[in-house]
Amino acid sequence: MAGGRYSDESKERVREAADMAEVVAARTELRRAGPGRYMGLCPFHEERTPSFSVDADKKVYHCFGCGASGDVFTFVRETEGLEFGGALEWLADRYGVALERAVEDPQADARRRRRDRLYALLERTAAYYERLLWESPEAERARAYLASRGLGEEILRRFRVGWAPSPWDRVLVASRRAGFTDDELLGAGLASRSRRSAQLYDRFRARIAFPLCDKRGRVIGFGARTLSTGSDGPKYLNSPEGDLYRKGLHLFGLHLARRAAASSRSVVVAEGYTDVLALSQAGVDNAVGLMGTALTEGQVRELTAAVGAGGTIELALDADTSGQEAMVRAAALASGHDVTLRVVPLPDGLDPADLVARDGPSRVASLLAEAVPFARFRVEHILSAAELGTPEGRDRALAALRPVIASLPAGITREELTRQVASRLTLSEELVGSLLSSSPSSRSARPRGQPPRARAVLGRREQAERTFLALCIALPEHGREALRRVTLDEHFTSPLVRRAAEHLRGHLAAPLDGLPRDDDALAGLMAELTIRADRDPADASMLEVELLQLEKDRLERQIAAGGAVGDLAKAREQVTKDIRTAVTRAMERTASADG
Ligand code: ZN
Repeated sequence: MAGGRYSDESKERVREAADMAEVVAARTELRRAGPGRYMGLCPFHEERTPSFSVDADKKVYHCFGCGASGDVFTFVRETEGLEFGGALEWLADRYGVALERAVEDPQADARRRRRDRLYALLERTAAYYERLLWESPEAERARAYLASRGLGEEILRRFRVGWAPSPWDRVLVASRRAGFTDDELLGAGLASRSRRSAQLYDRFRARIAFPLCDKRGRVIGFGARTLSTGSDGPKYLNSPEGDLYRKGLHLFGLHLARRAAASSRSVVVAEGYTDVLALSQAGVDNAVGLMGTALTEGQVRELTAAVGAGGTIELALDADTSGQEAMVRAAALASGHDVTLRVVPLPDGLDPADLVARDGPSRVASLLAEAVPFARFRVEHILSAAELGTPEGRDRALAALRPVIASLPAGITREELTRQVASRLTLSEELVGSLLSSSPSSRSARPRGQPPRARAVLGRREQAERTFLALCIALPEHGREALRRVTLDEHFTSPLVRRAAEHLRGHLAAPLDGLPRDDDALAGLMAELTIRADRDPADASMLEVELLQLEKDRLERQIAAGGAVGDLAKAREQVTKDIRTAVTRAMERTASADG
């Protein structure tokens, strides 16, 4: 049994001892770009000119091409395919640091021991169900059903699919005999209490049991499907929320999909358990399932971590109305993360499992290859659902299209979609372009020194928000004041950038300190901002320009949302004027610094 996590002091000693340049140089050739700074070809994406930047003193990296960023631990995790603890051990071993376990208080120790007991109970139950699926006579109909869905033994064993027997007390009796308490059976979600007799009974009976695992592959619960069409409860019964299983936090199959997701930098999100099995059987190793919930912020964070910054999430969800809503929600959540969202065009009423069963694996592969960017999918859908015959219908369509188009950075996709909308609405492209863009698509106030190949997945707004924060770090004195002047909810559109601004308010002098343990996206962004603050030119007038730009964007969002237009327009006019003045000042400063 593991003795708990390593202490923070151990972690800091390893960070101290690790030679960042040496660790990275083992993966890609580095050349010096300044004191403690190095550049090289990015080990995370294909490129011919170096855009991978390393700060060997602060021990962070950032790729200006694909957006990968993090600290020395992230680098080892990503390149060696390790969990955090493994990366820590890998570095400790290499740099001769002795690791110590954190001293836990007695209560935390008791909690950890209880969790270990629950893991053990769930693991033995999973093994029991698994054995029954292949050996029990009453599981014959389950085997027949799974075979009829085209699922072979190899894939069923890989996902540890099992059979929960029909009697009321099999798991109960066996677990008690092995020394587990009723409280533990309830805590693991394996038993329920009868309201009438207050007796415990097995929660899962006469059902196919799909083990739900955390990302390390430990069983934390079950999703169980009934085979009867009668009144035996819901078709799918999940574990209740408990010490280990939390709704909306886990993804079915993620522990098996991790490696493939990391190497392909993409992950396929399907709805159900059998969808994931069918996809995996069709050779799609990077598929995960939603486990009966709409995609949550926590799951998006898990998915982003699995594919890495700049990766792709492919939604293979039903095309019905609730599936549409789920996708719109997913897009809103994903916009705060550094990932691209694509939609797999599933035929109406069919899920991936149906498709594999009906048409075989090659059909699924070809559909995945046809995945389209979310914006294109949305535009198609809005246009096909709209009443384009009436002016009112066209107005409604335009209103629905506006946020979709406005979320795109200026570029080919945006132009193409604008053209498509214009042709379907029989309006001129210029008119549609101006109706659809709620804010100007190009900026005159972009300061020099911006990365030339900024990620296309980041909108102009989020780029501007990040630039603002990088300048705050570069100029902490002015940055402190600037951070005081912004309102997190109003000036930042991305939840991630909002968290970053909040963190910087307390840690502007040392942005890499005091980061929360479980927020990889925030840690990555801090690494990126630290490197940019060090590399990009910065002066107070640039910061002023960015701050004004944030304010202008905020006003434009309020105008677009239908705020008091007169006042807002006046305020915007003033800010625009201020920006012009500030830009002039910034240019004069740079010119005199150059001369
Ligand atoms: Zn890269």
